[in-house]
Amino acid sequence: MLQIDKNSFKKDYKKKFLEMHGTDIALGSEQRKYETLGVLIRDYVAGMWLDTTKKYNINKDKQVYYFSMEFLLGRLLGNTLLNLGIREVCKEALAELDVDLEKLEDLEQDQGLGNGGLGRLAACFLDSMASLGIPGNGCGIRYKYGFFEQKIIDGYQVETPDNWLRNGNVWEIRKSDKGEIVKFGGEIKVEDVGGKLVFNHINYEPVLAVPYDTPVVGFENDVVNTLRLWSAEPVANEFDYSSFSRGDFLKAIEYKNSVEAISQVLYPDDSFYEGKKLRLKQQYFFVSAGVQSIIRHYKANGGDIKKIDERIAIHINDTHPTLVIPELMRILLDEEGLSWQDAWRITKNICAYTNHTILAEALEKWPVDMFRSLLPRIFMIIEEINERFCADLWNKYTGQWDKIHRMSIIADDYVKMAHLAIVGSHSINGVAKLHTEILKKQEMSDFYYYYPRKFNNKTNGITHRRWLLKSNPKLTELLKDTIGPSFIKHPIDMEDFEAFKDDRAVQESLYKIKRENKEKLADIIYKNQGIEVNPDSIFDVHVKRFHAYKRQSLNILRIMNLYNELLENPNKDIVPRTFIFAGKSAPGYYLAKKTIELINAVADKVNNDPLVKDKIKVVFMENYRVSLAESIIPATDLSEQISTTTKEASGTSNMKFMMNGALTMATLDGANVEIRDEVGDDNIFIFGLTEREVLDYYKHGGYNAWEVCNSDLRLKKVTNDLINGRYSSDKDKFRSLYEHLLTYNDEFFVLKDFDSYLKAQEKVDVIYKNMHQWQKMAAVNIAHSGIFSSDRTITEYATGIWGSGFLYKNL
Ligand SMILES: *Cc1c(COP(=O)(O)O)cnc(C)c1O
Repeated sequence: MLQIDKNSFKKDYKKKFLEMHGTDIALGSEQRKYETLGVLIRDYVAGMWLDTTKKYNINKDKQVYYFSMEFLLGRLLGNTLLNLGIREVCKEALAELDVDLEKLEDLEQDQGLGNGGLGRLAACFLDSMASLGIPGNGCGIRYKYGFFEQKIIDGYQVETPDNWLRNGNVWEIRKSDKGEIVKFGGEIKVEDVGGKLVFNHINYEPVLAVPYDTPVVGFENDVVNTLRLWSAEPVANEFDYSSFSRGDFLKAIEYKNSVEAISQVLYPDDSFYEGKKLRLKQQYFFVSAGVQSIIRHYKANGGDIKKIDERIAIHINDTHPTLVIPELMRILLDEEGLSWQDAWRITKNICAYTNHTILAEALEKWPVDMFRSLLPRIFMIIEEINERFCADLWNKYTGQWDKIHRMSIIADDYVKMAHLAIVGSHSINGVAKLHTEILKKQEMSDFYYYYPRKFNNKTNGITHRRWLLKSNPKLTELLKDTIGPSFIKHPIDMEDFEAFKDDRAVQESLYKIKRENKEKLADIIYKNQGIEVNPDSIFDVHVKRFHAYKRQSLNILRIMNLYNELLENPNKDIVPRTFIFAGKSAPGYYLAKKTIELINAVADKVNNDPLVKDKIKVVFMENYRVSLAESIIPATDLSEQISTTTKEASGTSNMKFMMNGALTMATLDGANVEIRDEVGDDNIFIFGLTEREVLDYYKHGGYNAWEVCNSDLRLKKVTNDLINGRYSSDKDKFRSLYEHLLTYNDEFFVLKDFDSYLKAQEKVDVIYKNMHQWQKMAAVNIAHSGIFSSDRTITEYATGIWGSGFLYKNL
């Protein structure tokens, strides 16, 4: 463990400040104080980082490489200090230098290289791998611009670029000597050399991939793993423009721009595939660079290429990095000279794939023409994989053309990435029990019957270090005081807290902690949005990406209904509520953007109506991101997890909320089912259609939104409010939302679930009035949240997918 006392830290910090800025701490800006601290911590980490790498090399540990197009890390300073075990010492030392640590932590830009759940999961996994001592590496793209910044202007979402590198990034180290060349376009010349076919790639466009490494510090265990993000740069001699004539000079500029575009910006689509060539380029770019560098490192350490599958595991996070499979094949065949059989066996042993969604619009497929011209050799290899796969299918399903066509990797002029990922991996997992079952019996049933042993479930998790220890220090203290500190290393021990659920003093402490967290959030809301909210009201929170299936629309309709009821009956006895929303919409997602507009229009109306001002408030917080989530979640009473059943693969914010003592309003979707199983029906609010009902409606029809609407006066009113000018002088402003519900028969069953949602919300009011009962339920939720730590999830991946030999060796 890093041993550092207050006085030596003070000395180090003062010295570093002088070195970096040539002046006194008192004269420096806050930004400079932050940078100094970051650089100093990075120096502390450097030795442990090198030692970890050396140890892995000497032990010849199996290395896991987690390939993901997104890593939504958020801020690093606070959690790095926490994991190093020096946050308190630093805080006190800095205070003596008149520096406020929390202020500096707040200055850090979020590293927002992800859209939402999928990217945040990758970040939680890195933290858990390091903290469990698993040799695990992240591999991704160093986007120059991360997920856009959201501003709300006149109620509309406006996107601005996320220039997160503006003030530099103290955490990354550029490794210019570890670059790799990635080849695009060109042609393949096949030659017969002594009876062996040789594939020469010519006339291609080379791109230099340069890695930037970020240390991933484990929790108090001296382990520092690596997140390697690749940046695209022109190959130097291709851009020696001093030697070009004018025409070539312009060509050189074009080349430079087209190369740099590759790692320029994160695509802001969540669970939605865009068939853009640049996206395919991004995918092959980081996959090829990553796989090349893995093999180079393995061989440099004396590894035998024929045994590489004993020492390497590659995880494919959603289909985005699926090209790992043909890229590995390419290197093993063309560069290492292995036979097809050997290369294919090794590739399958190495690769494993996680499916994240069953939404049809999210399934990636690439037009054959685009694919072949951009990646000619990779396309040839996929064709060969597919021919062999289809031949195997023919053996088993002779004559069943339909089935073989359905399962083929290449069909109807598209390359289907999920099919390639399934065929080329030894493991395919879903991310919650329900999701995995739906994959097996619906979306991927053909493949499940063909490869039953490949399919398995790994329910998602979240790192309790960021989402509890760091973001909710007061609750952490209460847990330590009641059940002792063992839950910090073994989060499952939080179960011991259940014994305190009836303890009045503990209930009061829980209430007090929540109340303090709510006051803090109220300050942030006032500062950011200029709205005053009452910390004694129920904080009813719906924060996540905007998506039709996540049903922010259902939430806002019930708020519109409650407003109607309060206008009719101003003395209606309700517990005051503050409805908090946050989340971004994809820039081109019309309905999601309309929903954001509606929420802001309702907020504007409700918050300015003196008749209801002491009862309800509606707040839309701008620019949802990890650091904002860390402020909102510990202050939440009620967590809204109300997706259309079957549509949310898992959800992870549901887990963050429960760990912080929020109660959950939920449909039986994704991991909500497992949360319900953990806490029991009495400690969660469940409503809405079941899985069977939804699947039945989708299969056989029979749902009529008009009928549902016309038989419920409340629904008639609120849907009418979308088109009668109540929330906008432009009556047509929300007509598209109205039509989606009524003209197009409400694809996501918003109207169908409305009544049971309202009934469940009434229960919330009743229980909240009894503080002791509410806090007892909160205690049960906290006590059962340990199983949703990503430490549990990662232990399951390590033992069940990656090969267990190395696990715990380093603990
Ligand atoms: C956890 C998290 C998510 C995922 O939220 P869901 O409600 O599970 O979709 C998205 N964005 C951020 C910033 C998060 O922290």
